Amino acid sequence: MKAVVIGGGMSGLAAAINLLDLGIEVELFEADEIFGGRASSWTDEDGDLIDNALHVFFPYYVNLLSFFEKLGIEDNLLWKNMEFYYTQPGGKHAVLKIVDLPAPLHAAFGFAHLLKDNKEAPKWKALWAGLPLASGLLLSKEKIDKLDDISMATLVYRYSPLEGLKYMEPGINGLTFTPSYSVSAKVMLNWGMKVFGSASCAHVGFANGGLGDIWVGTCLDYIKEKGGKVHLEKAVKGIEIEGGKVKRIVMADSKKVESDLYVSAVNVFSLRSLLPEEAYDLDYFRDLWHFTYAPSVSLMVWFDRKLTDVECTFFANDCIFNTFADLSNVLPDVHKGGSMFEMVLSPADHLQAMPDKVMFDIALEQIKERFPLARDAAVRKYRIIRDRQGIYRPSPGMEKYRPFQRSPYDNLYLTGDYTKTHVSSAGMEAAIWNSNKVAELIASDKLGKAVSLNVEFKPNEPLMKYMKTVTRGAALLGAVAVGKKLLNKRCQ
Ligand SMILES: Cc1cc2nc3c(=O)[nH]c(=O)nc-3n(C[C@H](O)[C@H](O)[C@H](O)COP(=O)(O)OP(=O)(O)OC[C@H]3O[C@@H](n4cnc5c(N)ncnc54)[C@H](O)[C@@H]3O)c2cc1C
Repeated sequence: MKAVVIGGGMSGLAAAINLLDLGIEVELFEADEIFGGRASSWTDEDGDLIDNALHVFFPYYVNLLSFFEKLGIEDNLLWKNMEFYYTQPGGKHAVLKIVDLPAPLHAAFGFAHLLKDNKEAPKWKALWAGLPLASGLLLSKEKIDKLDDISMATLVYRYSPLEGLKYMEPGINGLTFTPSYSVSAKVMLNWGMKVFGSASCAHVGFANGGLGDIWVGTCLDYIKEKGGKVHLEKAVKGIEIEGGKVKRIVMADSKKVESDLYVSAVNVFSLRSLLPEEAYDLDYFRDLWHFTYAPSVSLMVWFDRKLTDVECTFFANDCIFNTFADLSNVLPDVHKGGSMFEMVLSPADHLQAMPDKVMFDIALEQIKERFPLARDAAVRKYRIIRDRQGIYRPSPGMEKYRPFQRSPYDNLYLTGDYTKTHVSSAGMEAAIWNSNKVAELIASDKLGKAVSLNVEFKPNEPLMKYMKTVTRGAALLGAVAVGKKLLNKRCQ
């Protein structure tokens, strides 16, 4: 049995490996000149390492981690304590420092630490706005699923002052490239539950080298060793259907390729252009038109001197960038000489038409405002990356449109970070989970075998089960205290 995989990003390479493991012959076509898709890297003409974009890994990426273990590359991740440095004008950073305590104490202490120095919103507003997030930790899965119908800002605004959202905004933008008023509350609570509901998640992983270097080569070796074929710069331009099945794919050079099975591992926007019009008679494919694009732009800036010694991630509000890291501290052997800021510019809808130089000038001014040492530093060079950016926008109501991996066409399966999964709205764990799912379905549908690849992230947090009681107790004590005060006032 032979399968064609379209797309050589993380989903496509993982799908190819899974199918080869099932004993299926694989041929993979990638349109670009490199493999790895959005999680890729390369070396530029000066010999500098360029990541497609800053990527971080989390301990709850259990399927990605077991994929890396299978390939023997789990040591290619560098784990750091979870610290988010909120940069502020003048150079004093406030730090969300997650400490080594059982959940939810680790998060509570982390937030207390952040509020100490943060000047971006009054502390009481931040505390109040944090309540919907904290109470999200107590909700059942069904209740959280229902919150896909409203935005994160709507959820916060229902209970508390909107200004408190300022503390969450950089994280929301950094994860989803979408402002809080356009992102599904479910998507954010799902993330919050993992990180703030489990102390074991209080770490952030970085690629120990170029983002693509740590995993792409090993995947390709594995595929080739098992007899799989991979092709670069071979764009697929169409999928042809006959009798309720994919009959063949048509390449950009008009060559046709036939196979028994077809796995689409391209993003949803590419897939829409590959499908024939008749596919859109089916609701399954029609739903793909609900997806909209959340663009991002990546900026790398090399300075001639050190601006920070921070080894984790920075956040920024009211800037053209929102999440970034000084990779000269994370990878001192790679980025030598001075600070190298790798920055995500998002939401980037308004930046699409902006020339590189304008974007960089704005970013540099804002860096100087927040890092006084940058005012005397020279910029060795900068790079703006526009290709292979963006994810789908996880707006309210989108979750129901994510397609299940088994399509109505008997021999067509879909993977990619946008396809249906509970693990996250996009991201590398979703890419791996979805490709595991495709292999599980193909094993069952075509080989009559039950194969189980995906595992669930299960935090072991003894204190979390008492949280409901503690919160209710605290609310009751609060109400009694307020009642007593009012009564005393009336009696006076
Ligand atoms: C700025 C940025 C920051 C990110 N940060 C993080 C992070 O910190 N943590 C995290 O988990 N995730 C992060 N992500 C998301 C992560 O990169 C993606 O979720 C993941 O790489 C998706 O992999 P994929 O294989 O599904 O899609 P892709 O990587 O997009 O792969 C699809 C592949 O298909 C190819 N293709 C497209 N059309 C065709 C065609 N017609 N024929 C043949 N090939 C085609 C493309 O060239 C591409 O290689 C970030 C993304 C961006 C853009």
